[in-house]
Amino acid sequence: MDGCGRIFHGLPARCAVNPELGYETEVRLLQSAAQKKKVMVIGSGPAGMEATQVLRERGHEVILVEKSDTLGGRLHDASMVSFKGLMRNYRDYMIRATQKTGATILLNTEATKELVDRYQPDAVFVATGSNYIKPPIPGIDGEHVHMLADVEHGRETVGGKVVVCGGGLSGLETAVDLARQGKDVTVIDMIPTEKFCANLFMFAYDALFMEVKKAGVKLQGGSRIVEFRENGVVVERNGQLETMTCDDVVIALGLKSENKLAKELLAADPMNTYVIGDADKVNNIRYATRTAYDAVLTMESRIL
Ligand SMILES: Cc1cc2nc3c(=O)[nH]c(=O)nc-3n(C[C@H](O)[C@H](O)[C@H](O)COP(=O)(O)OP(=O)(O)OC[C@H]3O[C@@H](n4cnc5c(N)ncnc54)[C@H](O)[C@@H]3O)c2cc1C
Repeated sequence: MDGCGRIFHGLPARCAVNPELGYETEVRLLQSAAQKKKVMVIGSGPAGMEATQVLRERGHEVILVEKSDTLGGRLHDASMVSFKGLMRNYRDYMIRATQKTGATILLNTEATKELVDRYQPDAVFVATGSNYIKPPIPGIDGEHVHMLADVEHGRETVGGKVVVCGGGLSGLETAVDLARQGKDVTVIDMIPTEKFCANLFMFAYDALFMEVKKAGVKLQGGSRIVEFRENGVVVERNGQLETMTCDDVVIALGLKSENKLAKELLAADPMNTYVIGDADKVNNIRYATRTAYDAVLTMESRIL
């Protein structure tokens, strides 16, 4: 409800799935592009997939480059908790729609400036997304400390008592998922408890916290992580050090843009390089699809 929920705040409705919604009178997407371009799209998360679909609809030639062995990017992570079935539907739909576009899709291929130079595209869309933040806190590489995606994808398992570090959406979703499996889960964060997920749309916020309560997840704000130890996490709280004992710790401390290649390509050709989605700013699916769509329009307005 990140897009449609805006109407409750007196703002125009937007849509993560359909970036055209609300812009119907402004866009000219019904006619195919006047000048066909050869475009390389780097990364196949929602930004790269949306860009590929819109570019192909407009008649451009597209080479979609993805370093992993599958399309989807972080949609695989955004949909990994058991109760996000609608997100899995969206992921699968986007993958199918992208495969049907007729774009050349190169999987298992990491794009570099050399690869771009070799293909000589007219424009490059950089949709390289983001990486999980793993701060250099003592003990973070310990055996009992796990990154959220490793736990949720079943690559690593956790014991009965778990501390989740990070009171954002992904931390809370994972906490609910683990608590529903019968685990004793506490979520900690530096910010006060009442600020956890404070930017979520109100209905989504209420629904999430209802599930947090129902699942028995405990929330503890105002706790700065000092160290990870074999028996738990040491936090500083109200000026005091305390050890929260647990079997395992899950890290959900956010993401940072993967924009090294974007900077390199922008420096070489700023007019024909478009940075979209999380690579531009860590955000959400609506931002990814919106920036992808806008970038196509911007590219075409430059060539008309
Ligand atoms: C756990 C979790 C839950 C989330 N839940 C939600 C939610 O409920 N709602 C919501 O709106 N958003 C959610 N998000 C955020 C959302 O998933 C991201 O904002 C979105 O996926 C960003 O899309 P993107 O296309 O910019 O990048 P990504 O989805 O990160 O995709 C980037 C792709 O680029 C590829 N890549 C990177 N570098 C290269 C390279 N050099 N060459 C080739 N390929 C490369 C990567 O392998 C990846 O496939 C969640 C995120 C996480 C982590």
